[in-house]
Amino acid sequence: MWQSQKMLPEQMIAIFVFLFGLIIGSFLNVCISRLPAGKSVVRPRSRCPKCGKEIRAYDNIPVLSYLFLGGKCRSCKVRISPVYPVVELLTGLLFLACYMVFGNSVLTVKWAAFSAVLVVLIFTDWRERILPDAVNFTGLGIALAISFFVRPDDGTAAWLANRMFDFPPPAPVISFADAVIGAAVGGGLLWLVGEAYFRLRGREGMGFGDVKMMLMAGAFLGLRRTILTILAGSLLGAFLGAIFIIASRKGSNYELPFGTFLGAAALLVVFFGTPVVIWYQSLFMIR
Ligand SMILES: [Zn+2]
Repeated sequence: MWQSQKMLPEQMIAIFVFLFGLIIGSFLNVCISRLPAGKSVVRPRSRCPKCGKEIRAYDNIPVLSYLFLGGKCRSCKVRISPVYPVVELLTGLLFLACYMVFGNSVLTVKWAAFSAVLVVLIFTDWRERILPDAVNFTGLGIALAISFFVRPDDGTAAWLANRMFDFPPPAPVISFADAVIGAAVGGGLLWLVGEAYFRLRGREGMGFGDVKMMLMAGAFLGLRRTILTILAGSLLGAFLGAIFIIASRKGSNYELPFGTFLGAAALLVVFFGTPVVIWYQSLFMIR
């Protein structure tokens, strides 16, 4: 009889995925605050930046501890940045969204990992204009490794293979090739844009961090979604950047966090990009 009251397995997995996202978000906070300064994310335990008191396990529960302590350190009452619970909640929601959209599949693992990497980059670039190598290269490694386990869906490598070989290579090879092509185009395009900007204005417009970020993102996204991400990120940057510069009167020399815009665009492309990719495909009759 009580069986009708039981939660569906999918709902239980969804809750578990959300809670797991919160815990990962808590680790991403450590990455965001330590990696730009080149510090270890493993040791030492987290401390209050003001009074130096070690944060206890029961004060380190994602989101809840922040709410329970009213956003203040337990011992010295200094205000704790609301970025911490925001990062935790955002990561939990992104993980949940991955599960809702991609279900019980390797794709959920792939896009959740990508989301986690992007959350760190979005915040480190926004706060300190730094896109840490450790994050970019870890992400690149995950993307290349996981490409062997997902079905290729970009179509670029398959299109090329059809023209180059008499027999189709196995799916994992096609999928890996798609990741490599995406990485090359993502990093390459950003490098070209940076070069053009440097030639035109005679100063560095973008750090090499953006190039490495899109190298990594391209390996997750594949060719089409990479191009879409760069387009969307540039539009987002131009639009929000102009508003921000006007509103804050910082002047046009103000360095915008381009990585933050690229990261937000990549997340939009993961969850809403497929219809655009299909439309684009029909427009140019690529296959
Ligand atoms: Zn304190």
